[in-house]
Amino acid sequence: MSTFQSLGLEENFLQAINDLGFEKPSEVQQKTIPLLLSQDTDMVSLAQTGTGKTAAFGFPMLQKIDVERRQTQGLILSPTRELCMQITAELKLYGKYLKGLNVVAIYGGASITEQAKQIKKGAQIVVATPGRMKDMIGRRLVDISQIDYCVLDEADEMLNMGFYEDITEILSHSPREKNTWLFSATMPKEVASIGKKFMNNPLEVTIGTKNVGASSVSHEFFMVNAKDRYQALKRLSDANPEIFSVVFCRTKRDTQKVAEMLIEDGYNAAALHGDLSQNQRDVVMKSFRSRQIQMLVATDVAARGIDVDDITHVVNYQLPDEIETYTHRSGRTGRAGKTGTSLVIITKSELRKIKALEKILQKSFIKKEVPSGMEICEKQLFHLANKIKDTEINHDIDVYLPKINDVLESFSKEELIKKVFSVEFTRFYNYYKKAKDLNIDHSGDLKNVQEKSFSEKSTRFFVNLGRKDDLQWMDLKDLIREITKLGKDEVFHVDTMDTFSFFNTDVAHADQVMEAFKEVYYHDRLIEIEISADRGRQGGRPSKKGKPSGGFRDKKRGGSDKKRGGSEAQGKFQGKSRRPQERPKATGTGGKRRRRM
Ligand code: AMP
Repeated sequence: MSTFQSLGLEENFLQAINDLGFEKPSEVQQKTIPLLLSQDTDMVSLAQTGTGKTAAFGFPMLQKIDVERRQTQGLILSPTRELCMQITAELKLYGKYLKGLNVVAIYGGASITEQAKQIKKGAQIVVATPGRMKDMIGRRLVDISQIDYCVLDEADEMLNMGFYEDITEILSHSPREKNTWLFSATMPKEVASIGKKFMNNPLEVTIGTKNVGASSVSHEFFMVNAKDRYQALKRLSDANPEIFSVVFCRTKRDTQKVAEMLIEDGYNAAALHGDLSQNQRDVVMKSFRSRQIQMLVATDVAARGIDVDDITHVVNYQLPDEIETYTHRSGRTGRAGKTGTSLVIITKSELRKIKALEKILQKSFIKKEVPSGMEICEKQLFHLANKIKDTEINHDIDVYLPKINDVLESFSKEELIKKVFSVEFTRFYNYYKKAKDLNIDHSGDLKNVQEKSFSEKSTRFFVNLGRKDDLQWMDLKDLIREITKLGKDEVFHVDTMDTFSFFNTDVAHADQVMEAFKEVYYHDRLIEIEISADRGRQGGRPSKKGKPSGGFRDKKRGGSDKKRGGSEAQGKFQGKSRRPQERPKATGTGGKRRRRM
């Protein structure tokens, strides 16, 4: 077994490693540290994030520089501000016993004067984003004409972000005879060409296989109807009470929307995307790091540089277009010797993408079922049991015990246990007891028998609102719930057409729905509602383009023109209820988690 002692590191570094608690070198460290220490060479290393590559280049660089010289000897280029700060912090820890060491991070969005001041004090190592570095070289605030070592970290990301020109410009100010060490998680041809252009016979070090995700990550996929994506996400989270995850969406809009829905539903979630200011992003990342946020909903671009250990799950709310992007996403988990899971929510038409990923990544993706409501209740129940078991008793409670005893003395131990568990369990149970099966099989059919019998048990309604009113199915569902006060799963099969829509509720709620919609207006137009002869999707789902099979007229044209006397549009609709009903608040069984449903 390889040890840090056997890699050739000096005593002061071994001491720092000991302080950090690293027990043995990771694969990339075992393969690169002895090479870089013993040779003056260029190197290309194919390694995922989270494999310990900062130490793999950091220790050799720290050991090789002359700390007595106040001249910049090492330059590390990295794609994001986040990464720059992290690399800098790691290097300071690795070199904590190197007296006089000065590592300075320079990146955009912070005071250039302050950074220039730090450099002027004499920084042996500069860690920089390409944009700010180029700027500072242009203003002669930093001098890299005498560097001996240059690291291009996450080279594929830097190129993805369009930094090719900046990197070329920066390197033209550095000496030819320096050593360049390039690290990249993937090896597209652009990265290979950088290697050719800027390096001299680089040694190649590969950790795992090219373009292959980390082996510590397992990949699972869940097949649902597109409209059930969000429900599936919630269930996956509820079935993993200790989840600490990054949820990837394709667009900023989806990212914001999914995060907002999660927050509204009581999850510890936040959005991270390019429309947020740097300050807002810093706040979000701080909360994520401190685990106040369990689900960070992010775009691929914004998530670059998220370097947080212990992420348990990466959730692909939508699949990316690029295989490389998938590799980067899944590389956010399974870091630092831990295992992680990459969950993918797909619709039936995306199954071919899973096959393509399997082929290219040479990984198998396990088809899993979205957990049923009862499975989730069970998971939550045992999670609670374990949490109680592991909770340290707070003896400040002791003084209240006699009074608590007075309140509870009539209950047996068994009754007390049942009551304690019911506090939390009932909340999940009530939410999930009627939950449908979200899984679809390969033929695209919903698998649940209960689902198939909805048409008999439910009432289908026609309503004279549609996409022309700027309502997508989710907006309409919210509106219906707002008006009827029905729960999320009590309004289903919402189908929006241009000028009208359909939705279902249980037969038992039909009267309540008809009553709730009496004299309710939407943007000054009376909302009209009728029970449809068409009992549901199975009974002839209306075609998206054409008229519904049940023979309804477009009520907007043919329907009533009645206006509510003297009404003034205040919100979107005027009528009865206002705020959508929210799920019950958590009853506080001691965890950091807020409301969960
Ligand atoms: P990196 O890939 O450099 O971003 O490292 C990921 C995380 O692993 C960082 O938090 C490092 O501190 C940690 N780390 C690096 N090397 C080791 C090691 N040999 N053993 C345990 N943790 C490590």
